[in-house]
Amino acid sequence: MIAKTKMVLLGPPGAGKGTASELLLKDVQLAHVSTGDIFRAEMKNGTELGKLAKSYIDAGKLVPDEVVAGMVASTLNGEACKDGFVLDGFPRTVRQAELLEEELAKSGRTLDAVVLFDAPEELLLQRLTARLTCRKCGLNFNKIFGKPKVEGVCDHCGGELYQRSDDSMETAVNRLKVYNEQTAPLIEFYTRKNLLFTVDASLPKAEVYAAFLKALN
Ligand code: AMP
Repeated sequence: MIAKTKMVLLGPPGAGKGTASELLLKDVQLAHVSTGDIFRAEMKNGTELGKLAKSYIDAGKLVPDEVVAGMVASTLNGEACKDGFVLDGFPRTVRQAELLEEELAKSGRTLDAVVLFDAPEELLLQRLTARLTCRKCGLNFNKIFGKPKVEGVCDHCGGELYQRSDDSMETAVNRLKVYNEQTAPLIEFYTRKNLLFTVDASLPKAEVYAAFLKALN
């Protein structure tokens, strides 16, 4: 169904990277590596890594490069990533992108595509501050654009929906600032490597997904 199976999803918070991966992973068997989801699981379990990550996440800042890259490296070398992977939310700095390249090179692998989900800031803030996330399965809903069937309850698993602490207006604004300063330089980094494909993420979900699939072929 798709030709490119080793990919990075790039884009500001709220652009819909998570939603696009959910749709893709229903159709294709690939490993989904979301660094944000891994951190949230670690925080929920109260691990040392979780405690460290929380101090950065709640401030809307990035967790240090070496911590994130080490965590992703062990996942990438696992059996689940053998046939391909969707990196969702990693890399987020040029340093992380370089560490990723080095890690993949150790096993003779390279990326096939980097898909940029692009949307205007106003829409991103609207989406982020209205976002609801399932405590159990991590699925996202939205108070305005994509309400759950029953208020406060996940359509998929029945879990409780909550607002992520970093989806408050103050932290969301900061996350966008951090994206512009530290992550946006990756657009040029990957353009130069001829790997970048851009999808207009302000369109309705089905159209975004169709454009995403097109980029992977
Ligand atoms: P996300 O769910 O992708 O929006 O990530 C939530 C938060 O986790 C981010 O705002 C960062 O604080 C942290 N985080 C996730 N991925 C990374 C990464 N690749 N580098 C640094 N921090 C990250």
